[in-house]
Amino acid sequence: MENIKLSSRIYRHLYNATANPTPIRKNCGELCGRACCRPAPRGELGIYLFPGEETMFSRRENWLTWEEHDPVEHGFPVSWNEPVYFVRCSGSCPREMRPLACRFFPLAPHLNRDGSLRLIYETLDLPYRCPLITSGTPLEPRFINMVETAWEILLRDRRIGDLVREDSRLREENGLPVQVVSRA
Ligand code: SF4
Ligand code: SF4
Repeated sequence: MENIKLSSRIYRHLYNATANPTPIRKNCGELCGRACCRPAPRGELGIYLFPGEETMFSRRENWLTWEEHDPVEHGFPVSWNEPVYFVRCSGSCPREMRPLACRFFPLAPHLNRDGSLRLIYETLDLPYRCPLITSGTPLEPRFINMVETAWEILLRDRRIGDLVREDSRLREENGLPVQVVSRA
C-alpha cells in the first residue's frame, strides 16, 4: 500500500476541497441546536487532528485550546509518533478553519477486511444525539463524495490507515452498526 506523509500543501488542498459541502441542504444545526459544536460542561469533548494537520494553525487562534497527547497512552496505533494534537474549541469557529474531523461528521470511514473503504454513520459513543445519525437521514451526494475523496487521500498516510483499520476491527468486534450511508 502507498505511504505518504501528508504535507501542509495536501492539507491546504483538503481544506479547500472540503470547505463548502454540507450533509443536508439546509443548516443541520437548526435540527439540534448545533449539538456537535457545543462545548461539554467539563471540557471533555475535543477533536484529534490528523498527523500534519496542525500546520494549518498558528496555535494563536483564540477559539482553540491545545493539548499534546502521548499516542501510546491514548490508544493510537504504534505507527503514530508523539505528540498527537488534541484541540478543544470555544463552540464557534471561523468556518473556513474548522478541523477536518468537523467537516466529515456525521460520517466515519470503515475499512473492510479486503481493504476497501466504506463510509458509515459515526458510531462513537457521544454525549449528544445527532439527528442525522439517529434517523439515518439520506445525505447530500456532494457531501458524501467530498468525504470519500478526502478519506482516500488521508488513507495514503500509513498512520491514518492503521488507525482506521484498528477502529474498524474494534467496531466489528463490538457489534456496532456498520450502516452504509444513504444518499438524498
Ligand atoms: S449534531 Fe448532527 S445535525 Fe446537529 S449540527 Fe452536528 S452534524 Fe448537524
Ligand atoms: S471547531 Fe467549529 S465546527 Fe468544529 S466543533 Fe468547534 S465550532 Fe463546531
